[in-house]
Amino acid sequence: MSVSVAPRLPSIDSLLRHPACRPLSERFGREALLACLRQLLDELRPEVLSGQVAAIEIGPEALAGRAAERLTAQRRSHVRRVFNLTGTVLHTNLGRALLPEDAIEAVQVAARYPLNLEFDLASGKRGDRDDLIEGLIRELTGAEAVTVVNNNAAAVLLTLNSLGARKEGIISRGELIEIGGAFRIPDIMARAGVRLHEVGTTNRTHARDYEAALGPRSGLIMRVHASNYSIEGFTARVPTAELAELAHRHGLPLLEDLGSGSLLDLTRWGLPAEPTVRQALLDGADIVTFSGDKLLGGPQAGLIVGRKELIAKIKKNPLKRALRVDKLTLAALEAVLGLYRDPDRLAERLPSLRLLTRPQADILAQAERLQPALAQTLGPAWQVSAEPALGMIGSGSQPVARLPSAALCARPQVSKRLRGRCLLNLEAALRRLPVPVLGRLDDDALWLDLRQLDDEPAWLAQLGHLQVPE
Ligand SMILES: *Cc1c(COP(=O)(O)O)cnc(C)c1O
Repeated sequence: MSVSVAPRLPSIDSLLRHPACRPLSERFGREALLACLRQLLDELRPEVLSGQVAAIEIGPEALAGRAAERLTAQRRSHVRRVFNLTGTVLHTNLGRALLPEDAIEAVQVAARYPLNLEFDLASGKRGDRDDLIEGLIRELTGAEAVTVVNNNAAAVLLTLNSLGARKEGIISRGELIEIGGAFRIPDIMARAGVRLHEVGTTNRTHARDYEAALGPRSGLIMRVHASNYSIEGFTARVPTAELAELAHRHGLPLLEDLGSGSLLDLTRWGLPAEPTVRQALLDGADIVTFSGDKLLGGPQAGLIVGRKELIAKIKKNPLKRALRVDKLTLAALEAVLGLYRDPDRLAERLPSLRLLTRPQADILAQAERLQPALAQTLGPAWQVSAEPALGMIGSGSQPVARLPSAALCARPQVSKRLRGRCLLNLEAALRRLPVPVLGRLDDDALWLDLRQLDDEPAWLAQLGHLQVPE
């Protein structure tokens, strides 16, 4: 006579001693293994009590297998490399600019060794971290002085608070912008303690509008580069030189937030014109702020450049201490700025510029080369073609300008009703690859813009892992 016995969960102790678990203890540490096994047993207990689990599923081998899977997943880094095939080069959600090798080496040194972050090696006295890059930035922009903070949003906040707190900041209605991630000029002004005094209209602001706003409460005039939209048609804007002259006549500083701000004239590489920092200063802006990781092609940072006495005031603000950059950023920034001293070779050395200037013919040839591999992977349910496409600089630079590029375009060969679902499935499958591939859905197709596909072998090698649900 046989008695059926309900399966029982093994004890933690017996599991830890079991040969299937011992290697896991070596690999992940005893504490982590213990916590994981406890969690697994807790999850299984109700199923065991209700008799829903077969004995084999709760044997030591099965449990060790599940623990190994879970511990491996936990150990995987959350910061992951991806393929940015969206067509947007400086993609804020994907980390913007890629650093050049020189900067990566500089970051490694700064990470590994002590350094003269705030120590003047010549005098042996305490130094200022801004001194490390001040000379280079002055040389490259013509500014009298410089300070660097965590990002350009911080640069704008700090500058406004230092120069305009409890006073009025005069700004055109056409420049009261919102940049992604809830950065809105009116809100930043309010947080900086500057009273917003808006002048003119959305499409047209004249010198007389600014003039009429000037008074005893005025603290500064601000100009913001329209970086993520454009106003076209019946428009008027006061040139920076004229606005600076007006500000100075009333003893006020003119701040110009360039957003991306380029150090060099990009048209020499066939890119759309973007205002340069040097020109803004020459035109009379007293302080110019711009990002480190947009067109500059460096690490996340906010650069504040301009008149010496104003920069001194900004550096004395206690907020500066809260917004300062770290040593890794400074190391990377110095290396990137150093490349700008040799503009002739900049497009070879600076990844963002190299990618932005990649010729369309080159990208199209790459798309044609890769088309058969993707077509074969996706099978007959998809039509895959190499096609011209339009990309963007990104990060608000030249919002309306398009970069002629090329893409692999995948169209599902199914009825219109099912197309959307198919495309979403493929998009999700690409995201699940070992190095996730991010493309763009548009016009009933999935587009993989190849402008930024440097590592073709790595991309091809993982195509075999692609699992597209039917
Ligand atoms: C991008 C941008 C900012 C914010 O810069 P971050 O470096 O992202 O903080 C501010 N102003 C303008 C005009 C911008 O384009």
